[in-house]
Amino acid sequence: MGEVHHASGTTSIKGTGVVAGVAYAPAVWVRPRPALPEIGTPVAEDARDQQFERFTAAADTVAGRLAQRAETVEGVAAEVLTATVGMVNDRGWRRTVKKNVAEGHPAEYAAVAATQKFVDMFEAAGGVMAERTTDLKDIRDRVIAELRGEPEPGLPDIAGEGVLFADDLSPADTATLDPAHVVAMVTELGGPTSHTAIIARQLNLPCIVAAGPALRDIVAGEPVLVDGALGTVTRNADEESSRTAVAQFRERAAVIAQWRGPARTSDGHRVQLLANVADGNAARVAAGTQAEGIGLYRTEMSFLSTSTEPTVEEQAAVYRKVFDAFPDSKVVIRTLDAGSDKPIAYATLAEEENPALGVRGLRMARDNEGLLLRQLDAVALAAEGRGEDAPTWVMAPMVATESEAEYFAGLCRERGLTAGAMIEVPAAALMSDRLMPHLDFVSIGTNDLTQYTMAADRLSPQLAYLTDPWQPAVLRLVKETCRVGELTATPVGVCGEAAADPLLACVLTGLGVTSLSAASTAVAGVGAQLATVDLATCREVAAAVLDTSGADTARELAREMLLG
Ligand code: PEP
Ligand code: MG
Repeated sequence: MGEVHHASGTTSIKGTGVVAGVAYAPAVWVRPRPALPEIGTPVAEDARDQQFERFTAAADTVAGRLAQRAETVEGVAAEVLTATVGMVNDRGWRRTVKKNVAEGHPAEYAAVAATQKFVDMFEAAGGVMAERTTDLKDIRDRVIAELRGEPEPGLPDIAGEGVLFADDLSPADTATLDPAHVVAMVTELGGPTSHTAIIARQLNLPCIVAAGPALRDIVAGEPVLVDGALGTVTRNADEESSRTAVAQFRERAAVIAQWRGPARTSDGHRVQLLANVADGNAARVAAGTQAEGIGLYRTEMSFLSTSTEPTVEEQAAVYRKVFDAFPDSKVVIRTLDAGSDKPIAYATLAEEENPALGVRGLRMARDNEGLLLRQLDAVALAAEGRGEDAPTWVMAPMVATESEAEYFAGLCRERGLTAGAMIEVPAAALMSDRLMPHLDFVSIGTNDLTQYTMAADRLSPQLAYLTDPWQPAVLRLVKETCRVGELTATPVGVCGEAAADPLLACVLTGLGVTSLSAASTAVAGVGAQLATVDLATCREVAAAVLDTSGADTARELAREMLLG
């Protein structure tokens, strides 16, 4: 995403930081991918079967190796590896290779062409599906290396400590990396939801993705300073100050590890700290943290690869897994936010000029109300039997008008559910006084609120300077929402990425936000930071950042005021 040369002789390369943390160690590159074969001369007809046998043997070997590795690891790593084995064994993929071989292509090229077909399909689907293409290319490369008798591409053995560099890490690579040796990860490509990011979060390894081609100049063995919070890789950094930065980070990490909830400011003002989850597994991880409950269960994430709508009972079984992880605490479940960056086969409209501004979230109910009704029935069914101390709150994404809020709240109440709306469209924030009387709570989705306030695509790396929740314009909308929340005694949460930033969490508290919901790994960092400031300071900092000219100035000012 860009390279900045500093007067001190250092150069920093900027990417998207996905896990905070500071590390300083020599660069280690993942073993290169094999060169891909060009289309060659056709194989004689009587030798084609043998080509397919070669392919099958190589694919089986790769699958066997990955399956073996899956047995040596646990948790998400094992799941990722098992999923990869499933892809190597995918019948559709193997059938396409067979067809290509039958047309006369050698095994290597047949595998490349078959993979490309699926890559094209996934890319056309866009969003999260497109990020899965790394997985497909990874198994292709492993099979090709095997066919040629070359070493398996991927992680080298690392002596001592190293910062791992790659174009993009495959799930199989990330699943087996050893955090005793890998102290940070940086990839040229990838996104915040790529496997690299998922595993880095799980291992709590500083991680930067989408750092761009400037990375390629970094040679193996060169010491680099990585700051996961800032998303920077610094070359030629001074060794002593780098080591100090790492030590300071470790000290702070130790304070965070010691922190115990529930969250409150130094003068005792309570802020409810909750976790964002995508499924039952993530909810169980969250239950092991200091989170007091779930503040955002993104239900659509459970159905990304589901082609037909699950029945009410099937959906209820999925939701129950999340509820069961928090049997005695609040769970805020969000109805399907299909569309745009989260395509769901059974819910998303096929073609839209402008999907982020299209029929997504609650808007889908206009043409397909049954989908929403069935989901709410499933939520009510799954929530049956949950006690008074385990409230089930339901909210709709992409609410923009009073009548949408009223409509959704009515459906929830018919089913005995507590009704809320996400505030992620600027119109909803500005009309808070009309929306809130219909609702039991609201939760501000700062990711989309920022995207729509700044008119900047949240997935665009070029526009990251605009899609920054520190933008005072966004914070002013948060303030307006909180003002009405206080007047109407409506709880106002924040569940976008903003809630995961410890300093911004203090600002949001100062603005009047009553709960913060963030990725499990961010919860303790936010709680520990809140414990260091009193409410009056939070309010002072909030007032000051609202009056700045932009995101960078706002962030800097808050840093100065809160950290000195
Ligand atoms: C948001 O928009 O801030 C939000 C929490 O929802 P999502 O990121 O799932 O769109
Ligand atoms: Mg959103």
